[in-house]
Amino acid sequence: LTKPVDPFDLQAGLVAAQRVTALHRQLERYRVELERLNADLADLARRDSLTGLGNRLRLDEDLSQLHWQCARYGWVYSLAVCDIDHFKRHNDEHGHLAGDDVLRQVGTALSAAARRGDGVYRYGGEEFVVVLPAQDRGRALLAAERLRAVVETATPVTMSVGVAAFQPGVDADAACVLERADEAMYRAKQSGRNAIAG
Ligand code: GH3
Ligand code: MG
Ligand code: MG
Repeated sequence: LTKPVDPFDLQAGLVAAQRVTALHRQLERYRVELERLNADLADLARRDSLTGLGNRLRLDEDLSQLHWQCARYGWVYSLAVCDIDHFKRHNDEHGHLAGDDVLRQVGTALSAAARRGDGVYRYGGEEFVVVLPAQDRGRALLAAERLRAVVETATPVTMSVGVAAFQPGVDADAACVLERADEAMYRAKQSGRNAIAG
């Protein structure tokens, strides 16, 4: 404004400035809200809605990070693939909703039995994966037996568990370890189910 200041010009200028700052504030509120919604969405995309556990996407991300840390620093980790026994039969006999409830129970039992720092994920249908950082094959087999026993006592179903430990120089990536744990799980099935193998 040039002197002498015209009160009318001053008033008009202040109104415009106020509008601009109000718009800036609103934009900032939208930005914060959008950031929060984005974080919610990222979390939702990585969570299994039935059990509340991390889903396969989260497992892939977490496991990949753990694998490369271990590969780089010479650390060990193990995986336990847990598959509910004869779950189709359970569904057929008690209905799909009761089956859903069993999946929740198994998820809760596994989470309670796992150590803090272990990761429990719903891998797919009636399969769960437990990630066991810093545990070699021997310790992982003990953990797997604990998980198997907890599910047997705390839920109406049993499960077969396959264990594999990361072998540096052998396992090119985490998928290799997961594949061996899956093969071990099938051996546990063949041995009569409600069993562990690895
Ligand atoms: P096995 O001991 O050989 O593993 O036998 P199984 O019956 O557990 O294995 P199969 O792969 O034949 O069947 C898996 C069943 O899991 C079939 C499918 O309907 C059920 N299932 C997968 N996801 C869900 C789910 O979200 N809810 C319910 N209720 N059932 C599910
Ligand atoms: Mg299965
Ligand atoms: Mg099964």
